[in-house]
Amino acid sequence: MNQNEAAAPCRTLAIVKPDAVAAGHTGAIVGMIEQNGFAIRAMSMTRLSVAQARAFYAVHAERPFYDSLVEFMTSGPVVVATLERDDAVAAWRRLMGATNPAEAEAGTVRARFGSSIERNSTHGSDSPENAAAEVGFFFSAADLL
Ligand code: ATP
Ligand code: MG
Repeated sequence: MNQNEAAAPCRTLAIVKPDAVAAGHTGAIVGMIEQNGFAIRAMSMTRLSVAQARAFYAVHAERPFYDSLVEFMTSGPVVVATLERDDAVAAWRRLMGATNPAEAEAGTVRARFGSSIERNSTHGSDSPENAAAEVGFFFSAADLL
């Protein structure tokens, strides 16, 4: 591709989930993010309220695992980050690996640090539209560097 066709950088939202933060894997996961060409545009540690977790995962409200997922996501601190790279949404999902760590490709974040389909160490947005909404859920324009 020539210069005019170079892929424009785009953004996605990453969350290091409570299991990975509690186990001390935040640094290793952030290292993998940096080593894979993502620029971190915003990052903070927070603890989700039940209302926040329910709203963030509202798309799953009818799923049998919803209440358990909300309980898990509010069980301890999380690290939320806005990542920027070419094709950031797909690239971060590739780096995370499959939802179920048992099915995630070797070397992916979930294969390394996930322990069950629920406690799978990280979150990633699933489309550019949802990425924009999820970045806005945690960060204001002034937070984004
Ligand atoms: P995420 O949205 O967290 O990046 P994902 O897009 O790979 O993960 P989703 O289908 O959106 O997967 O599920 C959201 C989260 O709900 C999963 O990451 C996992 O923590 C939990 N989850 C998904 N499926 C199950 C299940 N069958 N049982 C228990 N928890 C589940
Ligand atoms: Mg999802």
